[in-house]
Amino acid sequence: MVKKLKYPVLAYHKVTKQWEISFTMLYPRTFERQMRYLAQKGYVGKSLREYLADPKDHYFVLTFDDAYESVYKNAYPLLKELDFNATVFVLTNYLGKNNTWDFTPGNIFSRHMNVEQLKTLYQEGWEVASHGENHRVMTGLHPESVIHELKHSKELISSLIDDEVETFCFPFGVYNANVVTAAKSCGYKNLVGFTEPSRYGVISRSAVYRTVDGRLSVLRKIRRCPFDLFFEGIKEGIIHSFSLFSRLAQRFRKSK
Ligand SMILES: [Zn+2]
Repeated sequence: MVKKLKYPVLAYHKVTKQWEISFTMLYPRTFERQMRYLAQKGYVGKSLREYLADPKDHYFVLTFDDAYESVYKNAYPLLKELDFNATVFVLTNYLGKNNTWDFTPGNIFSRHMNVEQLKTLYQEGWEVASHGENHRVMTGLHPESVIHELKHSKELISSLIDDEVETFCFPFGVYNANVVTAAKSCGYKNLVGFTEPSRYGVISRSAVYRTVDGRLSVLRKIRRCPFDLFFEGIKEGIIHSFSLFSRLAQRFRKSK
């Protein structure tokens, strides 16, 4: 029996014209085709916070991991035009900096949003949420570092937007019972992972990847028909496994 995702949540990363060897970038025109198609079908994009407060059938949740500047430049103007909102997951040690935490073939780096850009999105109705400080696999950290990542990122973002930070997105979608308990103890109300079946109350999401996802598969992901989700889940699982390179690169760098 295939379990239906509880909420219609899409996960995006970069929306950019800068080509790289990665499934996590989407060309702006591809993203635009997907969003206009969903709008045409009567769907409205919301932040996770908005959706949970008022989960209507024609709503879906848009999330952007890592808060790349390309999202501000290439996705936000379109979403504003469509009257869609989104949740953006921020890495607080990389505000306005390049993604040197990631495995980047050919040393093609992507910049993260700066404080002003995040403030603008917040004022426009987006949810600005936490992805930790350094994009580390939380389950591999010392318990004190876990609390540090969770607490300091929450406090910093909260001071920037002058609002509560309710949502935490686990880097690489990796979590266990201990880090979930730690996140809850730090005051997070909503915890977010990836496609894997939800455990410990963590909200699963459907990732949208380059090449393999078109507007129809995006529609399938938010309609959450169990049959479709089964195949989407397999596809996402395979592509998500490529993030292992980033995780290994981090470990390798750390051990040097
Ligand atoms: Zn991430």
